Amino acid sequence: MSSAAMLGFTHLSQAYPAKRPAGARTHDFREIADHWALDAARDQSARCSQCGVPFCQVHCPLQNHIPDWLKLAAEGRLEEAHELASSTSTMPEICGRICPQDRLCEGHCVIEQSGHGAVTIGAVEKFLTETAWENGWVRPLRPLSDRSGQSVGIIGAGPAGLTAAELLRLRGYAVHVYDRHDRAGGLLTYGIPGFKLEKPVVERRVRRLEEGGIRFHLETEVGRDVTFAELRTRHDALLIATGVYRAREIDVPGSALPGVVPALDYLIASNRKGFGDTVPRFDSGELNAAGRRVVVVGGGDTAMDCVRTAVRQGAASVTCLYRRDRANMPGSAREVAHAEEEGVKFRWLAAPEAFVPGGSGRVGAVRARQMRLGLADASGRRMPEPEAGAGFTLEADLVIKALGFDAEPLPAMFGEPALAVTRWGTLRVDGQSFETSLPGVFAAGDIVRGASLVVWAIREARDAVPHIHASLQNARHPASAIAA
Ligand SMILES: Cc1cc2nc3c(=O)[nH]c(=O)nc-3n(C[C@H](O)[C@H](O)[C@H](O)COP(=O)(O)OP(=O)(O)OC[C@H]3O[C@@H](n4cnc5c(N)ncnc54)[C@H](O)[C@@H]3O)c2cc1C
Ligand code: SF4
Repeated sequence: MSSAAMLGFTHLSQAYPAKRPAGARTHDFREIADHWALDAARDQSARCSQCGVPFCQVHCPLQNHIPDWLKLAAEGRLEEAHELASSTSTMPEICGRICPQDRLCEGHCVIEQSGHGAVTIGAVEKFLTETAWENGWVRPLRPLSDRSGQSVGIIGAGPAGLTAAELLRLRGYAVHVYDRHDRAGGLLTYGIPGFKLEKPVVERRVRRLEEGGIRFHLETEVGRDVTFAELRTRHDALLIATGVYRAREIDVPGSALPGVVPALDYLIASNRKGFGDTVPRFDSGELNAAGRRVVVVGGGDTAMDCVRTAVRQGAASVTCLYRRDRANMPGSAREVAHAEEEGVKFRWLAAPEAFVPGGSGRVGAVRARQMRLGLADASGRRMPEPEAGAGFTLEADLVIKALGFDAEPLPAMFGEPALAVTRWGTLRVDGQSFETSLPGVFAAGDIVRGASLVVWAIREARDAVPHIHASLQNARHPASAIAA
């Protein structure tokens, strides 16, 4: 295969896979982007300038070898490109779809900085891995040695738990994953909607792990169906990867009215319907936006997923209230643009003051207050403060609260007061090894970082695995912890 001419950004414009028009895509929960043809993927890969210091790679939490796999892709060496892309990531096709690339790899691409538009790295990553699945290049999970005399218990089957499960199984351990849901995947399955990440993409990854010998114990809540102490005796090491699920509340009158619902209840119900499950709270209309005037409160990824789900369910109108302005939204700018294309209205610098009952006792309106940005707080973000006298009322029959998540009280839930937590309730771990205050018990993902990103959950699990391995080796051969 001939070597490709790189630096194509000088004559080729940036392109993403074509999006389906908003009018067509809002009737279903399928992903909004089409698949790339080979030529488009090669051309876009060849736009890379092969920088001496690849800032894209530096700002990718996985430090993916981006310029190298872009070059291989541009040369049409797709299988090698895929091998390289998957050498650092357990789920590149998922990150390619849902990483906020504008803040990570693509946001730091040098040709973006020079005004040419970043190399569309995420789309190439997705293309490579999808091509690999189609061609059978994604190899079955085969342990490199047999260490099945020792077992690891993993609590939580989200991206952190699944990543650790794969890498520990690869090292030969018996791996058991416990999750309170009936399907594995964590927020990949029940949080993130299908229009960002179609569910068969997640199911395919989980199936590969099952076929590789990983045992999933679903509908098993640790602290309820099995005790934490029991798991400690059952396994030689544990990893806690339970994510963060305590929804932040809005402390205003009417917060508990019927029709005011937490975002995750709403998204889980919608995702379950996508699987064809019976969901009484959806079927009764409680968690269904069809025909309703919907107001979503919040400005992060969760809020964006709610507004776009409501559009697809056939809401009469969808409005997002966010207390800061567009420039200060925590959610991805790309997702805001998608929501706007799909007909969502945004009320920037607006915060709810009260949820007002309607005639039926359900919520009927949101009374909101106009805000402005004041001085920066300790974190450097400008704080919203009420604008004197300014307010407005929005009619609403469904209000979705999407203000973010904190950690659940794990020491109490697990009946293990010695499990140390930070002042935010996340687990306190050693910065190098990810070991908690309990020997042989490690933690990774959102339960360590707080609500974050899939790619960081993968990274932390990947970093924890060599230390779990060393601890297991140490337990077997106390004199010489084997690092390999
Ligand atoms: C609506 C929404 C949209 C998002 N969109 C994006 C996005 O577009 N891009 C992105 O990068 N990130 C996104 N995120 C964030 C991302 O999903 C998380 O950062 C990531 O899933 C964290 O992975 P995790 O493995 O730590 O936890 P999770 O994915 O939360 O998985 C934790 C698992 O642990 C299980 N569990 C919890 N407690 C117990 C227990 N006691 N016993 C047994 N099992 C238990 C849970 O059931 C769950 O399956 C989004 C988050 C939300 C809520
Ligand atoms: S994992 Fe995320 S940040 Fe890293 S290259 Fe892929 S899309 Fe970019």
